[in-house]
Amino acid sequence: MDFSFTEEQELFRRSVREFCEKKLAPWANEINEKGEIPHAILKEMASFGLLGITISERYGGSGAGFINATIAAEEIARVDVSMATAVYYLVEAGWGFLMDRYASEKAKEEILPDITKGKTFLGIASTEATGGSDIASISTRLEKRNGKLILNGAKTFISGVREATRYGGGYVTIVNTNPDLKNKGLSLCYLPVKDVKGITTSIFEQMGREGISTGTININNVEIPEHFLIGEWNRGFYYAMEGFNCARTLVAAACIGAAEKALESGIEYIKERHVFGTPLAKFEGIQFQMAEEYTKLEAAKLLVHKAAWMLDQMYAENRFSIGEINKAVATAKLVAPTTAFDIIKDVLTWYGAYGYTREAGLERGLRGVYSYIIGAEGAQNIMKIIIGREILGKEFAPY
Ligand SMILES: Cc1cc2nc3c(=O)[nH]c(=O)nc-3n(C[C@H](O)[C@H](O)[C@H](O)COP(=O)(O)OP(=O)(O)OC[C@H]3O[C@@H](n4cnc5c(N)ncnc54)[C@H](O)[C@@H]3O)c2cc1C
Repeated sequence: MDFSFTEEQELFRRSVREFCEKKLAPWANEINEKGEIPHAILKEMASFGLLGITISERYGGSGAGFINATIAAEEIARVDVSMATAVYYLVEAGWGFLMDRYASEKAKEEILPDITKGKTFLGIASTEATGGSDIASISTRLEKRNGKLILNGAKTFISGVREATRYGGGYVTIVNTNPDLKNKGLSLCYLPVKDVKGITTSIFEQMGREGISTGTININNVEIPEHFLIGEWNRGFYYAMEGFNCARTLVAAACIGAAEKALESGIEYIKERHVFGTPLAKFEGIQFQMAEEYTKLEAAKLLVHKAAWMLDQMYAENRFSIGEINKAVATAKLVAPTTAFDIIKDVLTWYGAYGYTREAGLERGLRGVYSYIIGAEGAQNIMKIIIGREILGKEFAPY
């Protein structure tokens, strides 16, 4: 076993950190306050090779594996702990990878280069009003009519709706292609949303992640070309689960990055801050908390890095069963957001009243990582269902 990153990976981390600290960090406050990531920043991220990082070079990506994609997710979240920029990055890296694997050549040529150039946005549209956890209940219909693909339905709580309608782009969309077959009757397609007849959208006011929107997409008799079908008809559930494994690993990595940065700043603070004539760090009540949070972070990091490594091994070497990958990713996604939330909360508390100010920047981290406890890219209880199913066997799955 080797628990260290390679020299190339370390070099990659250093260069991404330098980029993020120089180009992204100065905008973190504005992203949060103005409620958007300036398009110029997205273009810079694209020029650096960060957007659609896992997409192959043929379409302008870097063809990065999941270890490097994980490193980049951590570094982006370190400088924008609100998660907004990390969300923009990770949905494109996770779902762009899936499109690269399964979309038609024509669709890839039309869609992916604009994503890797930072011109347009790519997201995932799975959740519907009937409950995001129950994917088999998806009712947005895709039908073939006279050689055309027609969509009807609605998606909700979808990240990036304002960005996709403003800059262009669209969604890897999970649709129902055979209502009698439950999850075996789902398919994937690419749904563009900007200036598309039959698409209307609305945006939610959210408790966090101000820099990236979340909204609804109403789909009324929307016609898409046949080559926008992703992969085979009725195989969408399996592709989607693969995409979720990729995206969840990067979600977990982003939470790790935000937590790591918060803990580092907290450690500096408790060494400097004197109360009762002595540094806070000398009080065991604080020091023990710091030791516990450090340990939890190390444990979470190992789970996340292992999941990324297993994904790379699966794609490059055909190692590990899908069940093993599901379990590894679900454990990382289960642990990382909660660990990040606990760490940021403790550091905020060490800061005293200053922690409660917006200026300290920690509250936006708390609100951001909480989105991943609630369920963006899959609720925590769903991770437990996956882990339970993989350990006990399908015969013990509750559904
Ligand atoms: C900020 C944000 C951004 C999002 N972005 C996207 C996006 O880009 N694309 C997209 O498709 N979706 C997105 N979502 C939606 C997300 O995927 C869903 O919130 C998630 O899947 C949970 O679905 P739900 O909110 O409908 O909750 P429900 O499925 O109704 O679940 C409610 C609660 O019940 C729990 N629960 C559900 N089933 C079980 C069970 N069997 N046993 C025990 N507990 C259970 C869940 O853990 C959850 O706490 C986003 C959500 C948020 C908060």
